[in-house]
Amino acid sequence: METKLIDGKRISAEIKEEVKEEVKKLSGKGITPCLTVIQVGEDPASSVYVRNKRKACEYTGIRFVHEKLPKETDQETLLNRIRELNEDSSVHGILVQLPLPEHMDEQAVTRAISPAKDVDGFHPVNAGSLFLGEKGFVSCTPAGVLQLLKRSGIEIAGRECVVVGRSNIVGKPMAALLLAENGTVTVAHSRTQNLREVTKRADILVVAIGRPRFVDDTYIKEGAVVIDVGIHRGEDNKLCGDVDFEKAVLKCSAITPVPGGVGPMTVAMLLKNCVQAAGGEIDL
Ligand code: NDP
Repeated sequence: METKLIDGKRISAEIKEEVKEEVKKLSGKGITPCLTVIQVGEDPASSVYVRNKRKACEYTGIRFVHEKLPKETDQETLLNRIRELNEDSSVHGILVQLPLPEHMDEQAVTRAISPAKDVDGFHPVNAGSLFLGEKGFVSCTPAGVLQLLKRSGIEIAGRECVVVGRSNIVGKPMAALLLAENGTVTVAHSRTQNLREVTKRADILVVAIGRPRFVDDTYIKEGAVVIDVGIHRGEDNKLCGDVDFEKAVLKCSAITPVPGGVGPMTVAMLLKNCVQAAGGEIDL
């Protein structure tokens, strides 16, 4: 059996082109989609993520504004700035880069963003809409995984889907998305007993646990589709995921590599959300 590589680079590039087209259409109506990213402090990883978002926005014609606030900014100042941006009709998307410094309450900050501009999809209104099957912004990483599956022609309806990890930004919304696609969904986590028995039921296995190369072939059913959300930089400076790719690849029918799998999809889905926030018609 030949294992298919699910190519996140190619699929994200395809979505970027679709976004670019829609941005052109909006510009014909006098609208330039605008994303404002607020970064508090100078976390080096955050700076890399912000740079990637800028590059992708600029490529597709989305206006990108990077607002940097010093690490010691007090929370009220940040909340006031968010409230101003909520009222600013030239700004369509607002994103506060996480993690925030320790003296800030991430939940309070996330909730301050207007749900209509919450392009990260982290606001409780958007998270709730997803579970109710209503329209709203969906967290970019799980939304990206869904596109990988759909655009690779992988059937979800009626199949056993196991999501390992239950974070608010990946695992939970991932489970809701697969359920909405009529998958039979199980969510596993650190308290799950006999994890292997659970994951071995999966036709589609999504792993988002934050542990390098944790899931090897012994967790995988022959012929399963494996999606690796994890991203880690090893001691050898190479990137790896939560799945032991070399071992898993021998067992599954399709798998995402790291890098080049889920990673590039996150930014692509952010762009899509920005265009939607600006009124663009792009329904993936
Ligand atoms: P979190 O740390 O928030 O959540 C990890 C989840 O995994 C928790 O629900 C935890 O369970 C579960 N878990 C941890 N250890 C085990 C274990 N041994 N067995 C079963 N479940 C376990 O992580 P995130 O969801 O934010 O991220 C997950 C991974 O995805 C990370 O590697 C992160 O870097 C990556 N990531 C990649 C993105 C991308 O763009 N490619 C975007 C976002 C994240 P419990 O709830 O019980 O503690």
